[in-house]
Amino acid sequence: MIIEKQSQMGKDQLVRLRAEGKAARYDCDPLAEVFSVTDGVYSILSKSPGMGGDAWMHLVIGTERAVLIDTGFGIGDLKALAETLTDKPIDVFNTHFHGDHTLGNVQFPRVYIHRYDEAPLQAMMTPDGGNGFVPKSGSYFTEADVMPFHPYEIVPVEAGFTFDLGDGETLEVVHVPGHSAGCAGLLDNKKRILFSGDSICSTPTFIFGQLPEGEYSEYMTIRAYKAGLEKLSERLDEFDSLYPGHALLGTPKEIVGDTIKVCDAIIENPDNYDDVLHFGERSGFVRKIGWGSIAFSKERV
Ligand SMILES: [Zn+2]
Repeated sequence: MIIEKQSQMGKDQLVRLRAEGKAARYDCDPLAEVFSVTDGVYSILSKSPGMGGDAWMHLVIGTERAVLIDTGFGIGDLKALAETLTDKPIDVFNTHFHGDHTLGNVQFPRVYIHRYDEAPLQAMMTPDGGNGFVPKSGSYFTEADVMPFHPYEIVPVEAGFTFDLGDGETLEVVHVPGHSAGCAGLLDNKKRILFSGDSICSTPTFIFGQLPEGEYSEYMTIRAYKAGLEKLSERLDEFDSLYPGHALLGTPKEIVGDTIKVCDAIIENPDNYDDVLHFGERSGFVRKIGWGSIAFSKERV
């Protein structure tokens, strides 16, 4: 199956990085594995408790400040880990509101997110947070490893908002809606990396399930996704590769153009697909061209 092949690439990469000595674990948060591929970037793997697949968090460190991109499942002491990896002040940014990227927010006083995802993130700020996304204990963790609920401040931002890391390095919010309405990446102008969250994944990007009702839902379609990707494609000279929310670190930027081709193909004929996908109770389709791959439902076209 296509998806298994694609996620195998990410798994093979982890095996290789471990063999090269580029992976480490720290006593303060032994459940998280920390990979270091590029200077000034730590990619922290948050192991899935069962839903959502293993998720990446990225700690990007500049000369003055650092930004933690996403907070994973909230299993293990991420704050202690981040503060072990850097002594710079840390801002926290969520690429979108989904629980596999935000449940660790409870350890931090405030998080930044694109404003279209502010309301759904706010709605999740309850003691049962992820609506059972994280069980009390599981295969690799106990109840004591699940970070206790703590309310935090949400700072909504627009596309173009920048985090200043010092010495001219900035992380700019780039809005690529589709997977969620407020899905956004951060573009690092010095490291030349797009931290793309789930807005562009090779494993694939999910534009899947019912189209939700309510504000900004028009941003959660393949057509809206294509428009965001086209805007991004005008900036391909500003970055060399993508660090997504799942799977392959350093995904080639050709994925942007290839994913636009996938959007075109789906819009032209949603009945032409490469694979069928069952996810929980729902089923949908997968279309793939080159690096681009989208899991979609017809009501999201
Ligand atoms: Zn995700």
